[in-house]
Parts: sequence; structure tokens; C-alpha cells
Amino acid sequence: MKEENPELSLLNKHEYDILEIKSVKVYLSKDRSEIKITLNELNTALEIIPPNHLSLIPRIYLVNYFCQDCIETKGRHLAVLNYIILYPNSSDKLTEVLTHEIGHLVWDKKLGPQQRIEFYYLMLKEVPATLDKNDEQERYIFVLENFANSYLFYRLGIFDQKRYPKIYQFISSL
Ligand SMILES: [Zn+2]
Repeated sequence: MKEENPELSLLNKHEYDILEIKSVKVYLSKDRSEIKITLNELNTALEIIPPNHLSLIPRIYLVNYFCQDCIETKGRHLAVLNYIILYPNSSDKLTEVLTHEIGHLVWDKKLGPQQRIEFYYLMLKEVPATLDKNDEQERYIFVLENFANSYLFYRLGIFDQKRYPKIYQFISSL
């Protein structure tokens, strides 16, 4: 038997109403007891995302349970499937959480291997702390998280262009 992703089986334990916001499929938990995010707020949060990035999002889930392995987590995306999950505690930081997760999707689905290597070298150049990481795995996660945050800051219009000019140029070209 194929081993199932625990996060996915948890997601599938619940029932959803399927809606569409800006052509993105939104799976809204039928049990809304914990959900504070409104569809209006979700619509507004998606306004800063260009259409060619919106089309990378297969599904956004608004779930009524909290992340099991880390209660602090406000959002995540599932590997391979690229579904974005928004937990109830993301409501106060909806735009930030959602845009960060979309940043991960842009990395996974839009960037080619060459671009990922390019971003890695830009990080080494402009964020020397990248080299302080203990091992490859830790450094890789650091680069991924910084990509998602660079994407977020760029979309919010608060990216520090003077401090990280090449990363800015890279992100703005996507
Ligand atoms: Zn992240």
C-alpha cells in the first residue's frame, strides 16, 4: 500500500465547500467554527499577486484545525501537490502568510534549476549569513525561506532594494 502524507490525510478528513477567488480554487471548511478569515479578506490578500503567479496555485485550503506538528505554524504548502493550507491562526497575518507560501510555490513551480542556483549565489553574495549555516540541509532551508520572504517583501513593496540590489532585481524579474 502506498504510504500517505499525514498532512494530506488530515486535510482529507474534513469536508469543504469549493469556491473560486481570482480563478484560484478555494477549499473552505464546511465546519467554520475556528475560521475567522473572510473570503473578502482572501480576495484582497490575493490582489498583490500577478495573474501568472496566481495560476501556479492549484488550491488554497481554509481549514478549521491547527497545524498538528507545530501549533505556531500559520500556513504551509504541501510538497509536490503544492496545495496551500491556511490555519485559523493566520487570520491576523493573512497577506503575509499567504504571500510567503505563494513564494514557495513560485520557487517550486516557476524557477528552473539554473535560476535556483543563481538565487543561491546571490544569497551568498548579499546575505553572508548563508555561509554560517552548519550543513547543506540547513543552508538549503535558509535559502528557501529567504526566497519566500524576499518574494513577500517585494510584493508588499517593502523590499530593501539598496541593501540587496541583486536579489531585488532577481525577484522583480519573475
Ligand atoms: Zn516558508
